[in-house]
Amino acid sequence: MAKKKALDVYLQQLEDIRKAGTWREERVITTPQMSRIDTTQNQDVLNLCANNYLGLSNDSRVIKAARDAYDTWGFGLSSVRFICGTQLIHKRLEQRLAAFLQMDDVILYSSCFDANGGLFETLLGENDAVISDELNHASIIDGIRLCKARRLRYKNSDMAQLEQHLRDTQDCRIRLIATDGVFSMDGYLARLKDICDLAERYDALVMVDDSHATGFMGQAGRGTHEACGVMGRVDIITSTFGKALGGASGGFTAARQPIVDLLRQRSRPYLFSNSLAPTICAATLKALDLLESSTELRDRVHENAGYFRSKMDELGFELLPGEHPIVPVMLYDAHVAQEMATRMLAHGVYVIAFSYPVVPQGKARIRTQISAAHSYEDLDRAVGAFKAVKQEMKL
Ligand SMILES: *Cc1c(COP(=O)(O)O)cnc(C)c1O
Repeated sequence: MAKKKALDVYLQQLEDIRKAGTWREERVITTPQMSRIDTTQNQDVLNLCANNYLGLSNDSRVIKAARDAYDTWGFGLSSVRFICGTQLIHKRLEQRLAAFLQMDDVILYSSCFDANGGLFETLLGENDAVISDELNHASIIDGIRLCKARRLRYKNSDMAQLEQHLRDTQDCRIRLIATDGVFSMDGYLARLKDICDLAERYDALVMVDDSHATGFMGQAGRGTHEACGVMGRVDIITSTFGKALGGASGGFTAARQPIVDLLRQRSRPYLFSNSLAPTICAATLKALDLLESSTELRDRVHENAGYFRSKMDELGFELLPGEHPIVPVMLYDAHVAQEMATRMLAHGVYVIAFSYPVVPQGKARIRTQISAAHSYEDLDRAVGAFKAVKQEMKL
């Protein structure tokens, strides 16, 4: 009986989700992830909603590195890192990433979600404080929930409020400022220069989650610490392999030496979850080779984003300004955004509409994400579809 009661509760919740219009359907892709995909419902749709910024998700060189790794390193480790789950390739990737990001050291996790989940609890106790941007990713929010530190939130990129919180926590032992490097609904970069200035003035640590930046933001693609000119001033960077760096899965924390050392001793998702698959280490090392040997992919994604922006501007679409390949097309009204996304798919272009509560009320949008894998022909096709749909909807 108790079971039936529980299932009835869940059925009611599911019904509520449907009624609220927030039910999520998953489209099922029948090809690799790339610029044009097939799904079980549509053929040859242009994909403008993957985090495949550098087009490495289906890159033949990355795939070959992964395939070769099966022969050298096997399929899996069947162990956590500290028991018998660390191979040379894990150490190589950690060292390589640390050098690339110009941080002291790196520790790998199964995901960036885990990196964030295992960070705050390890570094902060009840005498400490964590000060967090209100738009931070769910994994930062959850990671913070696990720690006993005082929690303070500031309005997105509101430096005055951040400073107020720093003033109000002067009695704390350690203060840590936590921010996304890129706010992914807007494509805006965090104000890292100001954040680092404040952190230095008030003697606080700075943590940046650079999942939407590692590999392609900044001159050498190191991320927002490079793009904002604050290399050496950020104490902790967490990021993912699940976006620009091949997109399979995995994450890491790069930080000052004592921080990484402590994470290896105490961070629970590191200690109690399986080692990253060796193929992912090998493929990520190859992705880093590609990034470091040529600026081609990086140049390509930014050129593509600039091209797409200028064409959409010409058509009179309102875009959020910026330098990131996330290009939000503002529609404000949730129904308009949803209808536009549906019509775009009928024109063979896959985009996603975002509305409240994911973005503020009345700020609905279509978020497009541009990739180095897109050709000019692809982008022209996307722009053509936006133009046609705009006319259909008489906007
Ligand atoms: C995507 C993302 C994550 C999650 O990364 P995974 O490796 O997929 O767990 C964490 N933080 C931010 C800011 C992200 O954009």
